Amino acid sequence: KAKAAGRNRVCFFDPKMQTDVNTKAEIIQELYTAISNEQFELYYQKQIDDHGRAIGVEVLLRWCHPVKGVISPAQFIPIAEDTGLIVPIGQWVLQQACQTLARWAKQSATEALTIAVNISAIQFNKNNFVQTVLDALHHTGANPHHLKLELTESMLVSDIADIKTKMSALQQHGVMFSIDDFGTGYSSLFYLKQLPLNQLKIDQAFVRDILVDDNDRAIAQSVITLSQSLKLEVIAEGVETQAQRALLQSMGCNVYQGYFFGKPCSIDELEI
Ligand code: C2E
Ligand code: MG
Ligand code: MG
Ligand code: MG
Repeated sequence: KAKAAGRNRVCFFDPKMQTDVNTKAEIIQELYTAISNEQFELYYQKQIDDHGRAIGVEVLLRWCHPVKGVISPAQFIPIAEDTGLIVPIGQWVLQQACQTLARWAKQSATEALTIAVNISAIQFNKNNFVQTVLDALHHTGANPHHLKLELTESMLVSDIADIKTKMSALQQHGVMFSIDDFGTGYSSLFYLKQLPLNQLKIDQAFVRDILVDDNDRAIAQSVITLSQSLKLEVIAEGVETQAQRALLQSMGCNVYQGYFFGKPCSIDELEI
């Protein structure tokens, strides 16, 4: 009977699930070799001010798989986080970004640009996080004042004293901080107020339908107003049309990022 039930269970097992399991195990295996085989690449997306000038870029990780092609971070970052591989991968991202900053510092067209790097909670929570950022800066000679780290709200709710210590240590070197996807997490304003922040990033979920959805517009407006009150920079992500940009500008936003200004691209394709 047990055997029959067992067989039944196998029958009910969704073949698609099996594929997912294989895929995840495969991805883990392949992620290990991806770093040493140099399969990662950084894409760059411009951040634009009110005058239409690029003031910086965000770097976005891509996995250029030899067989599967370009894999988006949404597909492998969660697995990299589960396995801890996000730590060496994140360090590689920081190192590359700082290398670009150091190179850009030598050219007048790019010397003023900032680079924003996404930081995973797993990475940030490591005891040596501050040191690894400083290492990347020192090894490349990049100017810390041009490096911005994007944190998410969800990582700013645990040990506030530890978070503050790490952020302040880096801030003392000039490193800036932005809160990514702002409005989608659960951070308390009381906590945020205590942290050395430079920027809030309005999540694209509120920008997408901002022209037609009153609630999205109200949320975007409150993030802009909050930024102004706290004397923080505010940037809107996912800006795809001139109409969205114009509305955001009329609401008091003055930095934008999105397909309207340029999709993320390889550094060779980047036009500043
Ligand atoms: P994010 O940091 O919020 O990045 C914004 C995402 O929106 C990017 O997706 C970008 O390509 C996309 N995007 C930009 N403009 C537009 C637009 O106008 N319309 C739409 N629909 N999308 C737009 P991407 O590159 O797939 O990255 C997804 C997420 O993966 C990022 O979200 C970030 O959380 C994470 N990520 C990317 N690179 C890294 C990394 O180096 N380290 C870590 N820890 N996470 C990363
Ligand atoms: Mg980001
Ligand atoms: Mg974002
Ligand atoms: Mg986002």
